[in-house]
Amino acid sequence: MARKRKAKENDFIVSFVLIALFWPILLFFWIVKIIWKAWQTRPCEMCGNQIRKIAYNWVIDGKRKRVCPHCNQRLEREQSRRAF
Ligand SMILES: [Zn+2]
Repeated sequence: MARKRKAKENDFIVSFVLIALFWPILLFFWIVKIIWKAWQTRPCEMCGNQIRKIAYNWVIDGKRKRVCPHCNQRLEREQSRRAF
């Protein structure tokens, strides 16, 4: 009986340690992913400027394009004009 209880306690400690180790690793990868995304620059497919933070996806002539906020605004204006 006593042995069984001890094994259960050990299981609890092992799972607790695993969770305690697991979360910092997950957090680390999450932070790395965010930093990686923030540093990863890609040129805007409309004007060629480097996109730093926010990129917008547009489908123009059946092709998916990543554009900067500036071009996004321009495209939105063009789209609304076309709608009229
Ligand atoms: Zn652009």
